[in-house]
Amino acid sequence: MSDTLNTKHETDRHSRSVSPYRAGFRCVCPNCGEAPLFHNVLEVREICPHCDFDLSAADPGDGAQVFVILILGFVCALLGFILYGTFSMPPWMIAAVLGMVILFGSIWMLRVFKATLVALQFHHDAHEGKLDDKGA
Ligand SMILES: [Zn+2]
Repeated sequence: MSDTLNTKHETDRHSRSVSPYRAGFRCVCPNCGEAPLFHNVLEVREICPHCDFDLSAADPGDGAQVFVILILGFVCALLGFILYGTFSMPPWMIAAVLGMVILFGSIWMLRVFKATLVALQFHHDAHEGKLDDKGA
């Protein structure tokens, strides 16, 4: 019985053969690097359809949103100054351009950052701490 549990535990462990940054940028499973990580725009799958890796423990929290807000906010503010100062675009056109950049840029960046955080979580075997956890 113990051997069966150990074997099952070893097969469930993350192989660490896929770079978490490559898997995150491509938004694919952090274990096999083949199947898509999301089953809609931003929702992480429960189980990988390619390698049956359990992704239900993935919890990137609000980390991806913070990165996207800070980075995209800086880029859009800079882009707004450039469009107004250098190209003398009218404000309504700047608002339209920045609106599209914010809409599509935030969705793309949220997918990449969320997938990277999930991949890093599995790569480093990060999980919630427990008092009875002996660090094994
Ligand atoms: Zn997989």
